[in-house]
Amino acid sequence: MYSIDLSGKNAVVLGVANHRSIAWHIAQALHSAGANLYLTYQNERLGDGIRKLTDEMKNVTLIECDVSEDENVESAFGQIAADGASVDLLIHSIAFANRDDLGGDFSATGRDGFRIALEVSAYSLIPVARYAAPLMPEGSTIVTLTFQASDRVFPGYNIMGTAKAALENEVRQLAYELGPRGIRVNALSPGPLDTLSSRAIHGYVDMKRIQAERSPLQRNITHDEVAKAALFLLSDLSSGITGHVLPIDGGYQIAGV
Ligand code: NAD
Repeated sequence: MYSIDLSGKNAVVLGVANHRSIAWHIAQALHSAGANLYLTYQNERLGDGIRKLTDEMKNVTLIECDVSEDENVESAFGQIAADGASVDLLIHSIAFANRDDLGGDFSATGRDGFRIALEVSAYSLIPVARYAAPLMPEGSTIVTLTFQASDRVFPGYNIMGTAKAALENEVRQLAYELGPRGIRVNALSPGPLDTLSSRAIHGYVDMKRIQAERSPLQRNITHDEVAKAALFLLSDLSSGITGHVLPIDGGYQIAGV
């Protein structure tokens, strides 16, 4: 009775860096469900790799967009609008902190490191929603990526925990604002996955091992499991859900030991 068919839908995916990126796995799932893709990438240093990844795919448009400047976000959605395209599905899968701020004492976090991490990893969802929303019809959805360090301490995650707490608050505020227009906003909260970003976190390997040991499923989760959950949250199957964070962590969050 129910299935996921995204033919004719346009999906904007922000945050593909390489084949390990969570955004890339979600983009592939959306594409295989029939969606047209608009993929944004941070800078030309990543451009060649992304062109190679998408070489053989139809209905994919690549747009450069560094979210640290609002004008870049405005211009990216301007290009999509100029195509005459609606934005039906939007994935924000972007985070950054200086490597020095992803380890050591949290109290050593400097003002600049705080600002950079919060601007890129949390603030960026706001201009993305601002410039995307006018292109989003009723029934469209926004999904961002967070991590459980938003409300628990994970050694090494440091300032990124602060950024994720802010991001999850934004999810609730945007869901409240955009709900009356039929636009849903949610977050996925995966357990540790090997990517360019996670590898920068001191203590990542231990974090991953401990999650596998202590989670009820007794293993780590996969990129594919995040992509499947994204498909659910972005599709009509989750039409009654907004303002929430969905953990994909093998149940780790419920473990008391
Ligand atoms: P990734 O390094 O592949 O993706 C991070 C992306 O952010 C990259 O594409 C990078 O180019 C982009 N980015 C950074 N600064 C940017 C800027 N100024 N402008 C535009 N883009 C910028 O790593 P990932 O693990 O796929 O991370 C994606 C999201 O998933 C992040 O929000 C991350 O915190 C979250 N997450 C990751 C894990 C994990 O274990 N990998 C777990 C939970 C949540």
